[in-house]
Parts: sequence; structure tokens; C-alpha cells
Amino acid sequence: MKPASDADGAEKRAIKHISHWIDGKPWLGEAASSGDIYNPATGAISGTVDFGGAAEVAAAVGAAAKALPGWRETSLVKRAAVMFAFRELARAHTAELAGLITAEHGKVASDAAGEVARGLEVVDFACGIPHLLKGGFSENVSTGVDAYSIRQPVGVAAGITPFNFPAMVPMWMFPIALACGNTFVLKPSEKDPSASILIARLLAEAGLPDGAFNVVQGGKEAVDALLAHDDVKAVSFVGSTPVARYIYEHGTAAGKRVQALGGAKNHMVVLPDADLDLAADAAVNAGFGSAGERCMAISVVVAVDPVGDELVRRIGERVAGLTVGPGDLAESEMGPLVTGAHRDKVAGYLDSGVAEGAQLAIDGRRHPVSGGEAGGFWLGPSLLDHVTPAMGCYRDEIFGPVLSVVRAASYAEALEVINGSPYGNGTAIFTNDGGAARRFTHEVEVGMVGVNVPIPVPMAFYSFGGWKSSLFGDTHVHGTEGVHFYTRGKAVTSRWLDPSHGGVNLGFPVNS
Ligand code: NAD
Repeated sequence: MKPASDADGAEKRAIKHISHWIDGKPWLGEAASSGDIYNPATGAISGTVDFGGAAEVAAAVGAAAKALPGWRETSLVKRAAVMFAFRELARAHTAELAGLITAEHGKVASDAAGEVARGLEVVDFACGIPHLLKGGFSENVSTGVDAYSIRQPVGVAAGITPFNFPAMVPMWMFPIALACGNTFVLKPSEKDPSASILIARLLAEAGLPDGAFNVVQGGKEAVDALLAHDDVKAVSFVGSTPVARYIYEHGTAAGKRVQALGGAKNHMVVLPDADLDLAADAAVNAGFGSAGERCMAISVVVAVDPVGDELVRRIGERVAGLTVGPGDLAESEMGPLVTGAHRDKVAGYLDSGVAEGAQLAIDGRRHPVSGGEAGGFWLGPSLLDHVTPAMGCYRDEIFGPVLSVVRAASYAEALEVINGSPYGNGTAIFTNDGGAARRFTHEVEVGMVGVNVPIPVPMAFYSFGGWKSSLFGDTHVHGTEGVHFYTRGKAVTSRWLDPSHGGVNLGFPVNS
């Protein structure tokens, strides 16, 4: 490891400044407050971000409300054409987007590019909006009367997003919202705000009218202003469970439609008949990829007797060979954590877990860091074995590279552990028995399930969302549920009199 970079070093001098994007252009006002942006691989401040409040939110929502009538009247085919153009531009700028993500989040370059690619799958889906918005039609529901259903945009929609996917999670939201004819205000995470501004520029270049997509940077103050604004009709949120609950309660109390995706604790069950090499590979990839800062990361392996010892041994072998280092070095497989405070919190579970009776089988604090600076927010992959559901390290969402192993005597006990968790985002089972897998997918109380697939993130044409404390609201994101969330249904019953008709009938319509 190199010594920490000098506070007066080159990075400090080249500090960047990120602000809002309102009405098709960068906001040039004077911010009342701002925050620091860090380079997690060095620990140095790399920039500042303006924090918006009620005034900036009013300007952004005002711009979105002004753009709404024109955008919602824009034909389906033209709205799809803007999505196609954005898709090409974003694809061409993948490396640039990924570079911004790595510089502020810390994840390795391949992972950042993968995030952009997964987000673009939702753009692909949104390009099909002319098909997705087709309604139903019934001819002659009564004599000479037809009925049909249509879906119309809800109005101005807001998206509030977490630090861990600064490009993909916004892309779960705005492509479908815009394609459906809504206008949009994004409030990204204050920890890695730069990707949102590049996305805004690319949307403008793709031909999206001014005001249809806006970005307000900041934290709670901006969020509260969005929740309080009468012109915001729908709010999509992705983040931690306490904030998701808050957004859902306050947003719905203000009469808004809300989908709020929360935190997670994802279990991977390994049955005795599983391919243990496949399971060990999966546990390492899904537990430590993106430094465990994924809402679909595997944080608990439930090893059904007798596989526990052998599985932990094989995981240990693989972890020893992992290269931890700066995300922009090609050889790095795992980067730093997002902030120093988060790294310290995550590392704290290694001590508290041991104090509660778990065994620290792999201590990531000792893992070598290759090519990184001492000031970076480093923590290598760790494994706590013999964890029980009573322990804090099991109950809390750690959101870092700490894998817990819970031992279970049987499939039934493993299922009980998972179904007893307050979270229900993702889960996976590793087995070679199709019947066991089928039973698990049927019985488990979790929104997204993998069979020999550790991170079962649905493709864009399915919907993403958890159960229990991992989701507040009824609709999951993207796929047809996303289209449903950003539109309101209307049923029309219509009578066009035959040209042979001669008179007027003012009676109440009855089906005679
Ligand atoms: P977070 O809840 O701290 O922040 C999410 C967003 O809410 C940010 O834009 C933030 O500025 C804002 N915010 C934070 N505190 C707030 C408050 N008190 N009032 C109003 N707004 C507030 O989450 P994070 O740390 O950025 O992201 C990590 C969390 O997100 C993890 O819990 C992870 O599981 C979750 N996550 C869930 C999913 C999912 O699909 N369920 C996906 C990604 C991340």
C-alpha cells in the first residue's frame, strides 16, 4: 500500500464541482449548502456537490410541470425515438459513465461498466413503449357500444436513489417514466452525484425537451421538499429500509403514489447435494462483488449439514486469491468501501460478531491491498462462521464485504431462518435436486429467487422488488409493473350512433 495522498496533492487542486440540472441546463445559482465527494480509493476529497432545498426543488418540479403537456402529447413513436437515441449515446459513453462511478463509489471498472449495461436493459425495454402501452378493446359490449382501456401518464414523477448504483438504479426509473409520457426529477445520492449529470446531458442530446428530466442534488432537505410538493404525483425510492418506510409514509400521506424499495439481507441455502465448487464460487462473487455493497449481495450462507466445514474451506481458498485494490486498476477484483465511516461501521461487525459468539474465519482487515493508498476506505473480504439469527451481525444489514455462515440441520430449518427474516429481497438455493429447488421457490417468502444463481436480478422485462421490509408499496420496479406504476388506467365506454340513427336518447345507459 502507498502512503495516503497529500491533502494538497494534485487531486485536491483539481477538485470538481457538481450541481443541479434544471430545465435542460446546469443550474448556475449559489448553493446554500454543499457536501464533499470522496475518492474512496485514496480517501481524499475529489469534489463538492451542491445541496438543494425547497427553492431548487420548486424550480426543478416547475420545469417538469411546464414540460409535461408537450411531452405527454408527443407521439409514442417519437418518445420511443428519444429512448433509442439515448440508448445509443449512453452505450457510447459507457466507459465515461463507469469511470465516474468508480471514482466516486469505488467499485472496480468492470463492475461499473456492468452496472451501466444492466441499466441500459431497462432503456431497451422502454424503447418498446408503443407496444407496452397498448390497451384492451371490446367491441359491442352492448349493442352499438364499445369499451376500451388506456393508460395515461401520472404527471411529474420523482426518483430518489442510493449510492450503490448511481447509474443503474436511476435507469430503473426514468426511462419507463419518460417513455410513458411523464416528466421526471431525480434526486441522486449525495455520495456519487456525477453520473446523474452526464445522464442528463445525454438525454438532452438525445432530443428530450428541456424540463422533461431534471436533477436536484442533496440529501434529506431536497427529499422532503419533493415529498411536500403538490405537483409531484409519483415517487420511486430505492435505499435503506428506515428511509424507504419514511418515504412511503410521508409520500402516501401527501396523496402520492409511492414505490419504496428498502434494504436487504439475502440468504443463500446450500443443500448437501449441491455442487460445492459452484456454491463456493457463487458465495464469493455474490458476497464480495462490489465490496458487498449491493442490495442483492449474498450476506448469509445457510449451510445445511454436513456441508458447512467444507464450504467454508472452499470459500476461504478463493478469498485468499482475491485482489483488493483501486477500482481503476485492471487487476483489482474488489474495490474500497464508499466512505470511511461506512468502512468503520462494517469492520465493527467483525468484533461485535465475535463478542456474540461467531467465529471470525476470515479477517478482511488483514487482506493485502494491492496498489491502493493508505487513506483509502479499505476492508478485505471477511467471513463470520457459526452465526445465529439472534446475533446483531445477522439481524443488521451490514452492506459490506462480510459474509455470515449460519449452520442448519435440515432444509426445513434453513427455510425457517429465511422466512423469519424481516427482509425479503433476494435469495438463492444451491442443489442438484429439481424437486427441492421447486419446493424452495414455492415456500420461500422472498421477492426474487435464484436456483443455482446467487444474484437473481430479473431482466428488465420482468419486475424487480422484494417482499416484507424490502419494499413498501404495491408495485415493483421496471417490467410491466414499472409501466403500471408510471401510468393511470382509464376505461372508456363509447357509443357512436350508426349513420342511420335519427333521434336523441337521454336515458341512463342500460344493457338491454
Ligand atoms: P440511504 O437510504 O441512506 O439513501 C438513499 C437515498 O435517500 C439517498 O438519495 C439519500 O440522500 C436519501 N436519504 C438518506 N437519508 C434520508 C432521510 N433521513 N430522509 C430522506 N432522504 C434520505 O441508502 P444508501 O446508503 O444510499 O444505499 C444503501 C441502501 O440502499 C442499502 O440499505 C441497500 O440495501 C439499499 N438498496 C436497496 C435496493 C433494492 O432494490 N431494494 C437497491 C439498492 C440499494
